[in-house]
Order: sequence, then structure tokens, then C-alpha cells
Amino acid sequence: MTATLIVKCNKCGNYMLSALNQKTKLCPYCGVKVNLNRVQRVAAADNAFEASEILRKLKSEKGFNHNP
Ligand SMILES: [Zn+2]
Repeated sequence: MTATLIVKCNKCGNYMLSALNQKTKLCPYCGVKVNLNRVQRVAAADNAFEASEILRKLKSEKGFNHNP
């Protein structure tokens, strides 16, 4: 089972998932190459499923949906 991090892109501010052993990752939103040693780690999860649940909560808290 792979630990998964939730990190925040330091360019566009969107959240994304990353494997714990990854060094860099391309942001799926703005395309910037994120250095995972420098990026803000928002949360950590035991597996990808748990991580996606956390991610969903974060997005709903921040009001990411565009419905009025
Ligand atoms: Zn980004």
C-alpha cells in the first residue's frame, strides 16, 4: 500500500495527489513542475482512496464548485 500526500500547487493553489516517494510532479491544473520537497503538504493518507476522500473534502470546504 502506497502512502499518498495531498499537496498544494504553489503556482495555482490547487490541490493534487502525489505518491510519497515522488520527487517532482506536474500540476494537472496549470502544468507547472512541482518540487515535492518544497511544496506545501496539506495532508497525508495511507492510500490513494483515502487521499481522494480528503481531497474531496478540501475542495468542498474551499468552495471549488462553481455553482451559485
Ligand atoms: Zn498548479
